[in-house]
Amino acid sequence: MSNFNPKETYRKISDISIDYLKNDLNIKGLIFDFDGTLRVNKKISDDTLNFLKMAKESGFKISVVSNNPHVSNTILKDLNINTTQKFACKPLKKPFLDMAKRMKLEPNRIAVIGNSKISDVWGANRAGMHSIYIQDLDNFFLRKKIKNSLKNIGIKHIE
Ligand SMILES: [Mg+2]
Repeated sequence: MSNFNPKETYRKISDISIDYLKNDLNIKGLIFDFDGTLRVNKKISDDTLNFLKMAKESGFKISVVSNNPHVSNTILKDLNINTTQKFACKPLKKPFLDMAKRMKLEPNRIAVIGNSKISDVWGANRAGMHSIYIQDLDNFFLRKKIKNSLKNIGIKHIE
């Protein structure tokens, strides 16, 4: 049966407990989604960069599986993070399992962190990985969507 339920849900990446993943769950690697997860509103926040740095220092292997074909040419190149090189075909589980091989880790030692219940959570669950859902209510696109819905029912200004 399909499973869209994440194991954990947070508002932002920096809320994730590195200690809990490492010591309680014995997670060794993190696979991130890019758009809407690492990069929000066209930038990677200092909080997120700091989290990546701390996770690396704690010994986690870090990579990115993205359906964005240009992800390998972003700041991730400078940070020396493994990425997919073209459209990854999420939510297929193959791109996650391929990345696990590149990371030399068993799927159950990997957490997938993403903002899509279909591409990231469903994909991770089927690949046998620990799914972490980032539900950012401040997300620009979501705000825009809500504003448009309100406009449709006649509400023009909301702060
Ligand atoms: Mg995303």
